[in-house]
Amino acid sequence: MSITDPMGELLTTGANELASADPRLHRVLVNEQERQAATLSLVASCSPVDPSVLVSQASAAVNVTAEGYPGRRYHAGCEVIDGIEQLAIDRAKAAFGARYANVQPHSATTANYAVLSSLLEPGDTLLGMELESGGHLTHGSPAAYAGRYFTAIGYGLDDAGLIDYDEVAALAREHRPKMIVCGATAYPRLIDFARFRRIADSVGAYLLADISHTAGLVITGRHPSPIDHAHLTTTCTHKQLYGPRGGLILSGRDADSPAPRGKGTLAQFVQRTIFPYFQGAPVLNAIAAKARALDIAAGPEFDDTVGRIVATARSMADTLAELGHDVVSGGTDNHIVLVDLSRWGMTGLVAEQALEECHIVVNKNRVPRDTTPALVTSGLRIGTNSIARRGMGDEAAAECAELVDLVLASVQPLGDREYRLPGAVRDLARERVARLCREHPLPGYPLDRVAVTA
Ligand SMILES: *Cc1c(COP(=O)(O)O)cnc(C)c1O
Repeated sequence: MSITDPMGELLTTGANELASADPRLHRVLVNEQERQAATLSLVASCSPVDPSVLVSQASAAVNVTAEGYPGRRYHAGCEVIDGIEQLAIDRAKAAFGARYANVQPHSATTANYAVLSSLLEPGDTLLGMELESGGHLTHGSPAAYAGRYFTAIGYGLDDAGLIDYDEVAALAREHRPKMIVCGATAYPRLIDFARFRRIADSVGAYLLADISHTAGLVITGRHPSPIDHAHLTTTCTHKQLYGPRGGLILSGRDADSPAPRGKGTLAQFVQRTIFPYFQGAPVLNAIAAKARALDIAAGPEFDDTVGRIVATARSMADTLAELGHDVVSGGTDNHIVLVDLSRWGMTGLVAEQALEECHIVVNKNRVPRDTTPALVTSGLRIGTNSIARRGMGDEAAAECAELVDLVLASVQPLGDREYRLPGAVRDLARERVARLCREHPLPGYPLDRVAVTA
């Protein structure tokens, strides 16, 4: 974007004004941008956006209040905005092969709650994956709204760390849920959506598929699509879609199925659920950024990126296993590698902190049969969205795994959260991270001015 571009002009004015009028905020925002460019992010639940997504989100669309939907707004001045939202809808439908898309959810949490609270009554039974097994808070955890307002039953994993479909079917027969939720937040294997639908149909339940973590794999055909199996599919847009913070609700062949209580079709029902039932005005600048991210996701470069997501995850899983780590389920089919640290006598918290000290960002995560608190845990969740975006392939990913191993093998745990790490190991790891980041820069994020201290 050149300075003669009106968007560039506005943004440059804003950036200059921020730097002079509020140097404190400007400094921390710059620090954060530079931290991202100069560290190795192996966090599975985020991804760095393309600069064109960032700019769409920073656009003047933020200034518009537009309750309602394209062509049916409660405010004037929405003609241009309608075009933006329609573009996002069309692109979401095309990317996922869906018949219906709602692009207004502020997050996947909101999308899930909108679906649950429209199709269920308070107290109805919901069958979802347990949090400890890799499910999400919104799938029925007692710590969340879903577990409090519905009767939530949880399914788990078998001894191999895989979803136990026979258990899901047995729990469905026993509890007769009105809704089954599939999809996960920390599960490294493929999910059999067709099988989930058969189980849902056998007890007359709705099926909600939440593909927040694997949306990119689904779009590019690297994970079977739930769109025509689930009644409704939800996803966030900021994990594997490399988009803004936000959510989507999608539907395929069930879009025209009857809604409960004679309220039209499922698609019409969900449409009313987001607005006016569950949300107010949409965040139109985020919707513009969703449109941009979905356009990128339809292109050939995205396919390459997602190919690298899978290849780098496999390479990391293999390397870590070869180096003696317990990789949950023995490997990965997606972007997630779960490492069980219990045999190493180290908590996830210690591992997370020691790695961060070395500029490697991962997150602690519970592993199957974990009894430690969620802020301590016995495992690590590694994800490859970010390194794939940096253009890393198998070899660089193997080096990332070696670095993780180098740090973990050198940590001396002194309890659940205290540890000692030799300074020489820290310095060596930081130097190698800095080199990896220089060799594989985040596209568009300047690194040349970053003082990467070894
Ligand atoms: C991250 C995640 C969510 C929540 O997404 P937000 O947009 O952050 O609310 C919901 N479901 C699953 C499976 C997730 O992994």
